[in-house]
Amino acid sequence: MNFLTTLGINKHNYGASTGRKWLETEDNGQFNIASPADGQAIASVYQCSRADYEDVIETAQQAFTTWREMPAPNRGEIVRQIGNKLREFKQPLGELVSYEMGKSLQEGLGEVQEMIDICDFAVGLSRQLNGATLHSERPLHRMYDQYHPLGIVGVISAFNFPVAVWSWNAMIAAICGNVTVWKPSEKTPLTAIACQNIIKDVLEDNDLPEGIFSLVVGTGDITGEAMLHDERIPLMSVTGSTRVGRHAATSVAARFGKSILELGGNNALIITPQADLKIAIPGTVFGAVGTAGQRCTTTRRVLIHEDIYDKVKDTLVKAYQGLKIGTPLDESNHVGPLIDKQAVEMFSHALNKVRAEGGKLLCGGEVLSGAGYESGCYVKPAIVEAENHYHTVQQETFAPILYLIKYSGGVENAIAIQNNVTQGLSSAIFTNNLREAENFLSHWGSDCGIANVNIGTSGAEIGGAFGGEKETGGGRESGSDAWKAYMRRQTNTINYSTELPLAQGIKFDI
Ligand code: NAD
Repeated sequence: MNFLTTLGINKHNYGASTGRKWLETEDNGQFNIASPADGQAIASVYQCSRADYEDVIETAQQAFTTWREMPAPNRGEIVRQIGNKLREFKQPLGELVSYEMGKSLQEGLGEVQEMIDICDFAVGLSRQLNGATLHSERPLHRMYDQYHPLGIVGVISAFNFPVAVWSWNAMIAAICGNVTVWKPSEKTPLTAIACQNIIKDVLEDNDLPEGIFSLVVGTGDITGEAMLHDERIPLMSVTGSTRVGRHAATSVAARFGKSILELGGNNALIITPQADLKIAIPGTVFGAVGTAGQRCTTTRRVLIHEDIYDKVKDTLVKAYQGLKIGTPLDESNHVGPLIDKQAVEMFSHALNKVRAEGGKLLCGGEVLSGAGYESGCYVKPAIVEAENHYHTVQQETFAPILYLIKYSGGVENAIAIQNNVTQGLSSAIFTNNLREAENFLSHWGSDCGIANVNIGTSGAEIGGAFGGEKETGGGRESGSDAWKAYMRRQTNTINYSTELPLAQGIKFDI
């Protein structure tokens, strides 16, 4: 496959790098990576050893002292060059994302586009790391706040956005003056190695030290744990399941580290009687089956008003019957594979469980076999009639299962159902009624980090801050002022008078 050669992916690859340099340890076991698209072995990666890890962290610490000295706009210039390299390698990297992770080629290319977009955003931001100028209560005093870099930012990422999540973190962290150590999912390390190869020339051309962008490929249990407990890493950005995130939150907090947590979602979409079904139906279907239901923002529940319930149900079932399922590299397919057979088992298990709870399977649910499905990772997306309180519905099953839930009365009833889960990532309403839309967006409306009107739950733009509430972890990444989490804030008060007036008018005469 040409894209593997273009991206410098060998049969066996090293898994630890400090930027340009690969640490050549071969005695710590390997990850053997096969494509969920066709089940074929792609390549293997040597796991990072403890000694490699120490080497990476020490190099990163040293690099930080140089990198933070560089003016932020100059750091932005490096990120601009990285963005251009990503433009150059968009096609092969998009193909590898699709082949290694299984998302459709369009979505793979879209993910790389997201990386390019965040680079552009970060370049502009490198001149806008602004603090506020404040008014002092004391005469001839000046107050302001400013932001300083933190040091090493540890990034632990999930398999489903194998490269974009790194770039959201690493590019913003970089312009803020931080260095990054990235532990990708052990299910998708090849795309991470490819990113490292892509940025290598930029580091070389600018004569930058090792340690600004580092990589450690290892398991969650060993390498991930090491990062969570490492006091040399002041900020941990963890993207993954709520289970892992809960553990990360307490581990990092125990050492007073900062964390950005981007965890599981259980996203609902409301369709009211005032919805334009021409956009609501495709919005629901893309949200539910895109990336084979493996987006954190995947639509998992659709709350439909009783007056239009049957019509919406029938239209959705019909739309599902037209879905083309097959290799993600063929752009005419709508749905690709799940990441691995374990994910397929979880899909089947959830369907069995929800039926036992009273759910009714309306379509899909089969595991596909035969020509084109040899990997054993392809399933038919399912639609299930269910109730919100079912245990299965309350969980995030990372697979294409869409629960239809009927509501009656006003939009407030739909909002109450929507909010009645432990997660709080993305939400949406389809309506042409201004009151319904504004209620949904109001302080008593959706309790999620993302709330959309007449757009589905998935497919966020990088310009907004991305993240969710409750068990989704509360973190924000990417656009808006999410950069502030990558810096430490300092409040400065400067006295340019000849007196020493104290705050709150306190007198202290000596
Ligand atoms: P996962 O939780 O299994 O793994 C995520 C990462 O955590 C991996 O790199 C893994 O190696 C690491 N990890 C596992 N155990 C660890 C430990 N003890 N210490 C440190 N690190 C450890 O998740 P996944 O299956 O790769 O991804 C799917 C999940 O990620 C879903 O729940 C999805 O909603 C979530 N996700 C959330 C967002 C978001 O922005 N909110 C984005 C993408 C994915």
